[in-house]
Amino acid sequence: MDVLKNTYLQINLDALVANYHFFKKQIGKSTKVMAVVKAFAYGHEAVSIAKKLEKEGVAYFAVAFTSEGIHLRKAGIKTPILILHPQPLEVLDCIQYKLEPTIYSFRVLQSFKEHTHQALPVHLKFNTGLNRLGFAKKDIDAVQSGLSENPHLQLTSIFSHLIASEDPAEKELTQGQIKAYQNIITAFKKTYKEPFIQHLANTSGTLNYPQARFDMVRIGIGLYGYANAQKWTNQLQNVGSLYTVISQIHTVTKGDSVGYNRGFIAAKKTVTATLPIGHADGIPRTWGKGKGFVMINNQIAPIVGNVCMDMIMVDVSEIDCKEGDPVILFDTQTTVEKLALATQTISYEVLTAISQRVPRMITTNT
Ligand SMILES: *Cc1c(COP(=O)(O)O)cnc(C)c1O
Repeated sequence: MDVLKNTYLQINLDALVANYHFFKKQIGKSTKVMAVVKAFAYGHEAVSIAKKLEKEGVAYFAVAFTSEGIHLRKAGIKTPILILHPQPLEVLDCIQYKLEPTIYSFRVLQSFKEHTHQALPVHLKFNTGLNRLGFAKKDIDAVQSGLSENPHLQLTSIFSHLIASEDPAEKELTQGQIKAYQNIITAFKKTYKEPFIQHLANTSGTLNYPQARFDMVRIGIGLYGYANAQKWTNQLQNVGSLYTVISQIHTVTKGDSVGYNRGFIAAKKTVTATLPIGHADGIPRTWGKGKGFVMINNQIAPIVGNVCMDMIMVDVSEIDCKEGDPVILFDTQTTVEKLALATQTISYEVLTAISQRVPRMITTNT
């Protein structure tokens, strides 16, 4: 760990590359990787992550929103970028920034059909049960005729998204979805003869269902070191580590309280450390009152009282430490998963919650 002066998120690009190659090895040469870098690369740092993956030769990037794609283009990313969830009026942004929209509804199709006056790669999303975005199988004819009305719209891929690929109890559901996706592709190809890319699987779909890999896989959380199952997560490396520092130490006597609204009342003499990280940095309120914890000098220090906007207080009664000492929020997948479990959430939310106020420190050995 580096000398700490304040809160920061360390991004280990070597771990990212190792994770990328882990997936490449799993899927073999014939399948492409689309790296999902939405939400600031799951809270990490989208530009550095994307630049590193671009150097490694990733085939595609995916982001949720058009603004995220523009951000990557402005930073110099040249690799194709799929926009998973554009709005109808973002046609011009897509053209200007060479972003490839997902057409998921007739409203989006109508807008892109009307406003696209030069070649634009587009992707179709079909709903196979998630009921979030996408056309239905019965829409195929109408979608095909809509697309054919504007030859600038170049159909590049057809995809869908799995509901519960990480859940072994939902194996049948997932297999049914894979079948439903295949049926859509077969039906589409009956009347459409040009080639297009097929993709369905996210991280867990890729690992748990090799038959769901098709031409390309969309890897998000796995690139950052998490795969929703111990067996897979153990083979990945942690990319983001969150650190802070002790600002001040207080000794409170029995009956004294700590923090807003007396969230903690000392049952005995207690030593607390105040840390410069709070809910505005991505520490949820649910971590308060002992649910969340930090590591100081290799020991667990539970959060006492309520999480403040810019601070938390932790119990260091049993820990040998002093003001200025470094503090680890997390530096392993195990810690992130423990924190997620203790506060009824998932690794995705713990990571993406880390706000833009927290400086990102990019590290690499190469
Ligand atoms: C976010 C997202 C992914 C990536 O999922 P992971 O579980 O993080 O790998 C893939 N596809 C779509 C449509 C998504 O929205």
